[in-house]
Amino acid sequence: MHAENQFSRRDVLSGLGASLALAAVAPVLAAEGADTAAESAPDVLSNPNNAYPKPPFKGQSQPWPGLASQMDPKPDHGEKSYKGSGRLKGRKALITGGDSGMGRAAAIAYAREGADVAINYLPAEEADAKEVIALIKAEGRKGIAIPGDLRDEAFCKRLVDEAVRGLGGLDILVSNAARQQQQQSILNLSSADFDATMKTNIYAPFWIIKAALPHMPPGSTIIGTTSEQATDPSADLYDYAQTKAATTSFVRSLAKQLGPKGIRVNGVAPGPIWTPLQVSGGATQEKLKKFGGDTPMGRPGQPVELASIYVQLADPMASYATGQVYGATGGGGQP
Ligand code: NAD
Ligand code: MG
Repeated sequence: MHAENQFSRRDVLSGLGASLALAAVAPVLAAEGADTAAESAPDVLSNPNNAYPKPPFKGQSQPWPGLASQMDPKPDHGEKSYKGSGRLKGRKALITGGDSGMGRAAAIAYAREGADVAINYLPAEEADAKEVIALIKAEGRKGIAIPGDLRDEAFCKRLVDEAVRGLGGLDILVSNAARQQQQQSILNLSSADFDATMKTNIYAPFWIIKAALPHMPPGSTIIGTTSEQATDPSADLYDYAQTKAATTSFVRSLAKQLGPKGIRVNGVAPGPIWTPLQVSGGATQEKLKKFGGDTPMGRPGQPVELASIYVQLADPMASYATGQVYGATGGGGQP
């Protein structure tokens, strides 16, 4: 952190203007249970550009689907930092890909906001998933682990049934799991690879949403993780990028279809985020070493930096937001 970008609470409150402002807001804050403006003010304001690791990174590679615990540096999913305030009290959420990356950040945040959470992941990711379930249970919430392969339609139906049974209902669905394997040339992209990307990223959300909808009452929300790749596709992500355009499109279509039923549908469009997907075939070693360095913020995002977006889109306070895609790209790309 740079000293010139920080100022202390004392600095802020020593100004005459601040004193007047404090006098003006104190009654309101007192009415809400806060003692003074000073107590609710942040201790320091820090520069987000310096908040997390920057390139150059070490080259690293893991067999797909990869584990967050084996990454260097380890991603931050909010394990120590995310603080809830009851925004999702009593809600029941199913998150695919909830073991790592954005799904894990959403799972931790949802539990800390008061929701019970079921996560899906691949059996090879059991070690990451166990950590997430322990973090959910540490909040006194139900944490339900449902491993299995989303490329299988029968499993997708079973996943929803098990989640509904375990949670006692369902009112938040985060369709987040995806397959990304970079390939320099379409000539080397096999039909099997193309099919695996389509099955995971397009068919599975279709199967899961279809199975989930009959259980979701008005007030429920569906959130899809899309990408800046939907609108600014990379040359080596020919198959993946088109699935993200499809995700953005299903969010906008379903929002129109489900609006009359009182179910909101929104998307999150990340830019370069430090997750296992990138180190298990999603990016070249060359791209990994300078990962996120070409964004205006000069670094990749960490999953925790998107946690509050998944919370916001599920929060009933955002009741008029549907059909939207919320970007978090470090300043590059568009949702
Ligand atoms: P991640 O590797 O942590 O999460 C992806 C998850 O998908 C895995 O944990 C795995 O559990 C799941 N998955 C993949 N194939 C599966 C299958 N066949 N069956 C069951 N589960 C399967 O990586 P992440 O980056 O957090 O990815 C989450 C979402 O974010 C994805 O939709 C991805 O496209 C999107 N995204 C990521 C980035 C980025 O830079 N990391 C950028 C834009 C969008
Ligand atoms: Mg994972």
